[in-house]
Amino acid sequence: SFQDTPPQPVFIDYGKGSRVWDVDGNEYADFHNGFGVMVVGHAHPAIVAAVESQMHRGSHFAQPVAENIVVARELARRFHQPQWRFTNSGTESTLDAVRLARGFTGRERLIKIEASYHGHHDSLLVSVEPARELMGPVDNPNSVPYCDGIPAASVDLVTVVPFNDLDALERAFAAHDDVAAVVVEPVMMNIGIVLPDEGYLAGVRDVAHRHGALVIFDEVKTGVTIAPGGASERFGVIPDLVCLAKAIGGGLPCGAIGGREDVMATITDGRVAQMGTFNGNPLTTAASRATLLEVLTPGAYAHFDALAEELQGGLDGIIAEHELPFHVLTLAARGCVTYRQEKVRNYRDYLDIDKAVPYLSWLYQSNRGVLMAPGAEENWTLSVQHSEQDVRRYIDNFKEFARDLTSA
Ligand code: PMP
Repeated sequence: SFQDTPPQPVFIDYGKGSRVWDVDGNEYADFHNGFGVMVVGHAHPAIVAAVESQMHRGSHFAQPVAENIVVARELARRFHQPQWRFTNSGTESTLDAVRLARGFTGRERLIKIEASYHGHHDSLLVSVEPARELMGPVDNPNSVPYCDGIPAASVDLVTVVPFNDLDALERAFAAHDDVAAVVVEPVMMNIGIVLPDEGYLAGVRDVAHRHGALVIFDEVKTGVTIAPGGASERFGVIPDLVCLAKAIGGGLPCGAIGGREDVMATITDGRVAQMGTFNGNPLTTAASRATLLEVLTPGAYAHFDALAEELQGGLDGIIAEHELPFHVLTLAARGCVTYRQEKVRNYRDYLDIDKAVPYLSWLYQSNRGVLMAPGAEENWTLSVQHSEQDVRRYIDNFKEFARDLTSA
């Protein structure tokens, strides 16, 4: 499981603010933040109060609660999608979005980007990090199942294209007239951070629409972390469906799908099923409401930007000083060091990275009081409770790492 990285998993005892403590008593500034969930930081008083108060009033009814509407309205405002449904994870959000697209269009094929991860359901667990010997040609990648147990019939329904390549997308549509949707992470965040080229996202939308297909943005990671309204807002492209999870729930299991009126009407008119016992449950909803309306205020995003600027400047300086072939990317609460000189535009670029280097960097940070998600594929997540001190610690550790890496 991804919670276990050699030499051993780190069992956490508790977390407070920007910090976590492991069961051996070691303290870390948390840059992992639960794979991008804890932008509110640990045990934020507003979240604790909201959840505690709801616990006293009952934690589950499987009936709607008034606050569902408050949360849905706030998501509608941020993401410019009129209709919302709740789920309990990113996986459920993309699973349901795929069904919605198929139900609405009456088509079955999906186009997905090579090396995007959309959760662990069969429909999209294809070419997530395909092995070199299986991945096929760069301009026409193979569809490679992630693991055993995924039906070939599911894999056959997925056409894989490289990120940032509209010609490849055009060719995929020319070869298939049964495409229900193009599913994209608008900023790829499971192979480090890969930005969309100027105009790429609008291009995806235009090509898909010209061929009668929908565009699904998987904003599970970008969601409310890179801007109040995620990549939709930051890049000014509104998809037909948007999938959210992770940071919108303040640390509780959560998920949501927003979409166009006519697409979402397939649920209300009973043509497409979207359901779940815990969907929109009161505890998650209370945490979500507090997260979106009390914690992730405009001031919170200004705070992320200030910390991001400090990280960017500090790390850039060290990389330049030691002439390391790395570069740094920051987007509000998210960011990463890319262990390659040139920009990464797609999975094939990412494969150039020597994975031993980010692993070593992770060990340096872990042993010096910074918890990071491991691997070249991961990035950091800041919280509203992170301070300049936390950022300084990350930079100082990186300085030591850079010095040792370049010393004879
Ligand atoms: N989409 C993206 C872009 C993700 O990064 C993830 C999880 N890392 C998921 C979907 C799946 O979310 P979950 O683990 O909540 O099912």
